[in-house]
Amino acid sequence: MPRLSEVIAALENLWPAERAESWDAVGTVVGDPEQQVTRVLFAVDPVQAIVDEAVELGADLLVTHHPLWLRGTTTVAASTFKGRVVHTLIKNDIALHVAHTNADTADPGVSDALAGALDLRVVRPLVPDPTDPGGRRGLGRVCELDHPLPLREFAARAAERLPATAQGIRVSGDPDAVVRTVAVSGGSGDSLFEQVRAAGVDAFLTADLRHHPASEAVHHSPLALLDAAHWATEWPWCELAAAQLDEISDRAGWDLRVHVSATVTDPWTAHAASSPTASPMGAPN
Ligand SMILES: [Zn+2]
Repeated sequence: MPRLSEVIAALENLWPAERAESWDAVGTVVGDPEQQVTRVLFAVDPVQAIVDEAVELGADLLVTHHPLWLRGTTTVAASTFKGRVVHTLIKNDIALHVAHTNADTADPGVSDALAGALDLRVVRPLVPDPTDPGGRRGLGRVCELDHPLPLREFAARAAERLPATAQGIRVSGDPDAVVRTVAVSGGSGDSLFEQVRAAGVDAFLTADLRHHPASEAVHHSPLALLDAAHWATEWPWCELAAAQLDEISDRAGWDLRVHVSATVTDPWTAHAASSPTASPMGAPN
């Protein structure tokens, strides 16, 4: 049975902390290096529902993609949202480890998992990491479809393959336009339009696209956009990461029990479709 420090060393080897963005807060947030680990839970968000799930499961280690804190804090009082998370973890001897932007750019990383979920063939990173001589690490991925699909069918595939959320997939573009190449980026992707345009792809699948960058992007090119829930675009990484740790555990003879949370922590819980008869003028015509 490994100690936490041994498991963390293996995770650090997959996603070295020094490869995280300078503004990020990755690594071990809670945990005693000497504690033993038998059960690990992977999830996107370190929120109370996930921590409660870790307690229920009897996990000793929770690994999340999103950090608990990005900025300094002066309290872990249980009366605060994040303080309650810390209290629950410590009272139940559960460690918390975060792999965020260091997992985004890893090989394989968050966008490889997203591409895999959509059955896309990864060609190269969208924004290559200049420190990687192999040219495989970096943000986002440029991908190809084995068989080109009309946008409407590719969107249907994304809706079917990504975990279900209230939002589903928002689409911009001609539904009959043929999609051969796709840029994907797990999480918020609207800072990447310049690189997406330069890649010359038919479509861009990401999350959190805002009005102005999206509007500008589609008015300057025939680029199709697919906007999924942020959580849904990053969740496939949990399965990939769990499989990676499982393999390490097998090799090391650790016999870890590795789980992936299926709890939907997307903050949006419902979607009301507009009435087809509603018009900006008020009364339907
Ligand atoms: Zn994210």
